[in-house]
Amino acid sequence: MDISPNTILIIILVIVSISFIFDQILDYINLKSQRSDIPGEIAGFYEKNKYLKSLEYHTELTRFSFLTSTFSFLLSAAMLLFGGFGWLDNLLHAYIQNGIMLALAFFGILMIASDILTIPFQWYSTFVIEEKYGFNKTTVKTFIFDKLKGYLLSAVVGGALLSALIYLVQSIGPNFWIWFSLLAAGFMLIVNMFYTSLILPLFNTLTPLQDGELKKAIEAFSRSVNFPLDNIMVIDGSKRSKKANAFFSGIGRKKKIVLYDTLIANHTTEELVAVLAHEVGHFKKKHIIWGYILSVIQIVFTLFVLSLMIFNENVSLALGAQQFGIHLNLLAFGILFSPISAVTGIIMNLYSRKNEFEADAYARQTFDGGALSNALKRLSVDSLSNLYPHPWYVFFHYSHPPLLKRLEALEHS
Ligand SMILES: [Zn+2]
Repeated sequence: MDISPNTILIIILVIVSISFIFDQILDYINLKSQRSDIPGEIAGFYEKNKYLKSLEYHTELTRFSFLTSTFSFLLSAAMLLFGGFGWLDNLLHAYIQNGIMLALAFFGILMIASDILTIPFQWYSTFVIEEKYGFNKTTVKTFIFDKLKGYLLSAVVGGALLSALIYLVQSIGPNFWIWFSLLAAGFMLIVNMFYTSLILPLFNTLTPLQDGELKKAIEAFSRSVNFPLDNIMVIDGSKRSKKANAFFSGIGRKKKIVLYDTLIANHTTEELVAVLAHEVGHFKKKHIIWGYILSVIQIVFTLFVLSLMIFNENVSLALGAQQFGIHLNLLAFGILFSPISAVTGIIMNLYSRKNEFEADAYARQTFDGGALSNALKRLSVDSLSNLYPHPWYVFFHYSHPPLLKRLEALEHS
């Protein structure tokens, strides 16, 4: 089947437009489902004023997101309609012949240009909105250094992966997807294993948790459930935001837990152990390993579909180019594949929400459901999270169940 460049361009524009409109509708109904009453379960944790402030926060976030997504939608639509991507490709062709260098320059320029264009939005979000609601702790210096380090990291990691992909496509042909799948799976494993020791320290400072009541309690719990805890680290999340978090790292035998200093500051020892018990639950129920397997399956499938159209010249021409280019087809594929990745995204979210319930149940069985409930309530209140998200919004976007559903499950199981 041979689809003309014009038809391909129309399909791309339709996908971009529908996904934009769809997102705006979801945002809108989610905003409309806000309610001004505080649910009884967490009334004790919330002052009326603070709750009303959380509603304002969400309204402001939604409006701002409408602004930013409209801006990027118009920008991509214009680039597509006026053949901007083809124009850039042509320009680069005058200086660069090598396919790998061409792809690196092409994506490098597009990424830097789009990031520079959206800096005002990122700035406003951090220093105006988050600041106004008392979350922001980022200094201008941190903001700038984060940007530079982010650029460096994507240049090194993204550049290496992109070069490998182009090299394999050029040298193996349509079967490149088998080899690149292996490479990607290995890469994900390495990132998973070394995330806390290599990547995180670029942006944050990690220190071992000091001896004391909390450390004793965590170690006692780990022993009681026979969990091979290797290390408890504290990360200075407070460098950027007052919002709190905790996570595990390590796919092998030795597990590392990372607690945000902001989490430790606002929770009791029981609550913190309950949060840890929830995370241990993810390990015990094999969610981590299945999450990895599912991601690998997703990557293999994506690369296979990519292999069906990577050599189609009409795809490059659809972007306004005068000749075929692997990088052009890659870019177009990113859009053409997005309806399919939206569907796999929904499936992954469904799976993730199921896992959250299971990890909560694990914490209730092995430690204390009440302590976990309190921790979840406090986390939710402190981050002004949305208590009444619209069910459709949850279905499409939430990787965790809404607070009230989790509390209900913790009480009635
Ligand atoms: Zn979880």
